[in-house]
Amino acid sequence: SDRLLDVKGLKTSFFTHVGEVKAIRGVDFHIDKGEALGIVGESGSGKTVTSMSIVRLLQKPGKVIGGEIFFRGEDIMQKAEKDMQSIRGNEISMIFQDPMTSLNPVYTVGNQIVEAIVKHQKLSKSDARKKAVEMLRLVGIPSPEKRIDNYPHEFSGGMRQRAMIAMALSCEPKLLIADEPTTALDVTIQAQILELMKDLKDRLNTSIILITHDLGVVADLCSRIIVMYGGLIMEEGSADDIFYRAKHPYTHGLIKSIPKITQKGDKERLCPIPGSPPDLLNPPKGCPFASRCDSAMRICMQNMPEYNFVAQGHRAACWLLHPDAPKSGLACSAEG
Ligand code: SF4
Repeated sequence: SDRLLDVKGLKTSFFTHVGEVKAIRGVDFHIDKGEALGIVGESGSGKTVTSMSIVRLLQKPGKVIGGEIFFRGEDIMQKAEKDMQSIRGNEISMIFQDPMTSLNPVYTVGNQIVEAIVKHQKLSKSDARKKAVEMLRLVGIPSPEKRIDNYPHEFSGGMRQRAMIAMALSCEPKLLIADEPTTALDVTIQAQILELMKDLKDRLNTSIILITHDLGVVADLCSRIIVMYGGLIMEEGSADDIFYRAKHPYTHGLIKSIPKITQKGDKERLCPIPGSPPDLLNPPKGCPFASRCDSAMRICMQNMPEYNFVAQGHRAACWLLHPDAPKSGLACSAEG
């Protein structure tokens, strides 16, 4: 089958000294081979916890408390840690904004990338070195033919981040999970890295999960988008569904808050959504977005909205989509 990853009913909590923080409250999604999926939401929405749950890198006191995760038809939750390490090394690569798995300080940056290329792409050492130089150039490392022999501590933080990206891409994984991979980088480098990911997808049929708070970043790469909020999926659809036919007020808010690029090449956040995400120690009974939603009705505070399927593959959890909802309530989604 074309199915690479299937996440069913995922629930993850953090058991803190003040109580159980319900970070993921029942999330279902899948990704097919060669597909790029965007997971978008503000910090605290649960998008990063979702990816850490998938690769089983959740730190204590985090714990998956429900649901199933199938990777290539096999239940990841049942795997021994040793097998999981092998999956993380060979089949699933991860790029984080703050590299969790940082470069090894005792080897040169080049050595580490060359090793990844030799192992995964079966090239000779000298070809792998050429390739590593090319990868470093593509992620924006200046004078890569010299820099390749530097040790990680000789790189700035931003350069280490880019070297990590070069390494993750060199592994040619089946699934690449990139969590805010380009947030700290300037727009030119960001575009180049997204281009590299796109190339990997087209060339090797790699599946990609791109996690970001910035809906603008997923537009070019991802054919399908999931919008998360308060530990739940608020809306899911094709990129066109989300950008042109969004149904959820939170998605509308995210679209309005896409940073614009100024003439100087800086990013400018135009219209942030006022308010803050819900307290997941005591999650709201009803819609998690209700306290920030201009269209909130009484029922929104009391009952969790169910998913409404607006079209094939397009679903949203919002009371406005209920057949009995007052039509005037739709005002907020009339203009994008
Ligand atoms: Fe707003 Fe209610 Fe829809 Fe939630 S369910 S997004 S509060 S209208």
